[in-house]
Amino acid sequence: MTHHIIKEKSEIPLVGAIAFGIIDRGTNLLQIRPTSVCNQKCPFCSTNANNSKIHPNTYEVEKDYLIKWVRNVIKEKECNEIEANIDSVGEILCHPKIMEIINEIKELPEVTFLSLQTNGLTLTKEKIDKIKNSVDRINLSIHTLDKKQAKELAGSDIYDIEKIKEIAKYAVKQGIEVLLAPVWLPKINDEQIPKLIDFAKEIKAKIGIQKYEVYKYSRKMKGAKATNYWKFYDKLKKLEKEKEIKLILKKEDMNIKKIKRIQTTLDIGETLNAEIKLPGWLPNQMIAATKDRCITVNDCNEKEETFLKIKITDNKNNIYLAKKA
Ligand code: SF4
Repeated sequence: MTHHIIKEKSEIPLVGAIAFGIIDRGTNLLQIRPTSVCNQKCPFCSTNANNSKIHPNTYEVEKDYLIKWVRNVIKEKECNEIEANIDSVGEILCHPKIMEIINEIKELPEVTFLSLQTNGLTLTKEKIDKIKNSVDRINLSIHTLDKKQAKELAGSDIYDIEKIKEIAKYAVKQGIEVLLAPVWLPKINDEQIPKLIDFAKEIKAKIGIQKYEVYKYSRKMKGAKATNYWKFYDKLKKLEKEKEIKLILKKEDMNIKKIKRIQTTLDIGETLNAEIKLPGWLPNQMIAATKDRCITVNDCNEKEETFLKIKITDNKNNIYLAKKA
């Protein structure tokens, strides 16, 4: 795996890629992705993190450059109530300056809520102390309370669910909202879901159960069967009644509102010259840049720092795909 550190002088735009930078889906919630590196190898991982055949490249954005872009994107959105959601296709705590990133983003006057997504593996009480004044919510991915199964589901021998439970309790005590985010893996952790609900209630955390999804590039969990949405919500409704807890969370429950999007600078079908900047997240992809956006060019192995004629094939949510023209 080759690790790429994205610095200001590279002039790589931080909008347009899926694996790093900023994603604006037209709401007051901005996804901010400082790194694509992960420290676990969960057997059901939707992004297939730590598989060098699927992801030969990992990325990390330099702190100050990331914050500069966050500031500019917020300015363009003209919103004074931004939720900065620091997340990743890997694990945010793998960024060497993540504590500073969190604190400096929360200092931006428009950021009224800061949430982060973590697997908790390297979270400590000391780290919580460093960010407790900045973090409003921690979305914590834990999928079982069973010690042995927890190691299996993290794909890590050093994973210690007891330690993570302690940290979750500690975070709640420090005034941080904790939202447990287990993936329900049918036939694997069915019995653990009610236990996780009980644990959430015990420590005064929230819980948002995630549906197990199978994608083209995701890691497929042996023995797990992906259900349809009808079965998934039916299970949640039954659990809501049984456990007297709200489990079906809507955008409105999370205070997410539609607001102005940042400009889409490239149209589908548009053909133009772009500079090749980096190898892509998937094999046979390169990341190009033009008009202030990153564009992932499929079926491309052109050299970095060369110019290539490309045709835009997708621009949804300012995430750009292209092919060679
Ligand atoms: S922690 Fe998340 S990104 Fe990392 S392997 Fe597990 S599911 Fe994938």
